[in-house]
Amino acid sequence: MDKNIPYKTYLSEDEMPRQWYNMRADMKNKPAPLLNPGTHKPMTAEELSVVFCDELVQQELDNTTAYIDIPQEILDFYKMYRPSPLVRAYCLEKVLDTPAKIYYKFEGNNTSGSHKLNSAIAQAYYAKKQGLKGVTTETGAGQWGTALSMACAYLGLDCKVFMVKVSYEQKPFRREVMRTYGASVTPSPSETTEVGKRILAAHPGTTGSLGCAISEAVEVAVGSEGYRYVLGSVLNQVLLHQSIIGLETHAAFKKLGVKPDVIIGCAGGGSNLGGLISPFMGEKLRGEADYRIIAVEPASCPSFTRGKYAYDFCDTGMVCPLAKMYTLGSNFIPSANHAGGLRYHGMSSTLSQLYADGLMEAVSVEQTSVFAAAEQFARTEGILPAPESSHAIRAAINEALRCKQTGEEETIVFGLTGTGYFDMVAYQKYNDGVMSDYIPTDEEIAESLSKLPKID
Ligand SMILES: *Cc1c(COP(=O)(O)O)cnc(C)c1O
Repeated sequence: MDKNIPYKTYLSEDEMPRQWYNMRADMKNKPAPLLNPGTHKPMTAEELSVVFCDELVQQELDNTTAYIDIPQEILDFYKMYRPSPLVRAYCLEKVLDTPAKIYYKFEGNNTSGSHKLNSAIAQAYYAKKQGLKGVTTETGAGQWGTALSMACAYLGLDCKVFMVKVSYEQKPFRREVMRTYGASVTPSPSETTEVGKRILAAHPGTTGSLGCAISEAVEVAVGSEGYRYVLGSVLNQVLLHQSIIGLETHAAFKKLGVKPDVIIGCAGGGSNLGGLISPFMGEKLRGEADYRIIAVEPASCPSFTRGKYAYDFCDTGMVCPLAKMYTLGSNFIPSANHAGGLRYHGMSSTLSQLYADGLMEAVSVEQTSVFAAAEQFARTEGILPAPESSHAIRAAINEALRCKQTGEEETIVFGLTGTGYFDMVAYQKYNDGVMSDYIPTDEEIAESLSKLPKID
């Protein structure tokens, strides 16, 4: 052990961030605006406020304010599970026999088991402040639905969750956690919405997708008095709330007197990665420091590495605004990958712009190699990681092994976004040696991309 670096670093109360950081303020090329799907004109605040809470609309559209105060009620809630620790992975370094110094920021220390609670409490807070009765949302793997149910229970808001049918059936315990926190959970697609009925008629027997569930949740929010829709990833506002991860990490490194060289995060819709990198990317954008930043995605759903940077629908029912992002096409249905949180066809428009500008890198990794990394991590560091998080572990181990080859003593930090207790079916497949590594063909991706909306 390095005597100056403890196994875990926590911030004291007066070292805790009291503002979120908005990377967009420092971006020369701003992320492209959301477009109205009918007129192809940028969505106005008024149009967005039909779907989203007013204050969240302001945050969504704000490309200029660098720091935004975190309301006291949210700071108080954060105290129940934050700060999260920055951990030096001494045990992993030892088994890898690498000169690299590996750190991870662990976001799994709350009942929802992931970083999603950081934005769930913020979105529920603004809904409550607006005097709403409740919120609707979708959930895939279930982490977001769980986090939102917890936040809504705390604030006394109603919470209606549309859960992708395959997860609803395969993860009954996730569903029961949400119901315990008072949420109603409907398998999607369902007969309770017009868009659900339409999708079921077109694809009888479908087990659903995030895109379908989003369409249903939006329909219910727009059609119910006193309700708005909330989303757990992709949006600018979500990256803003998740900046708490990066701000804590940045402050902890400062306290240790360490500067990371490589920053790694898994990328589904981009919220944990966007949050983790934000203060570091801010320094990079302002020319104050340089870092290698790596997004890690599944080879089965490779939005950054094989997708196209274009306007696309965010949902299957095509009721949501269009977003410019790296996308595989809103019709793309990834093969059965067990990292449910990484199965979205698109990507945060902020991260997409940063990637297009060459400010970050992306890699894709195959599922069995991800679970091999998860197993190695569990056996050395003790924590049972979520399959999503294990993508970042895989890439971090690969970087540490590269350092072993070259002898470089680089400092690597990755986001350990959550725990995998509800993913034991996936671990079982891996342990039984029956996990597959499906990678879409160029033809499949081209076919899906050929249906992108035409925007001029
Ligand atoms: C949802 C989720 C992700 C992926 O979502 P992002 O918005 O890309 O962060 C990663 N890890 C865990 C544990 C998740 O629940």
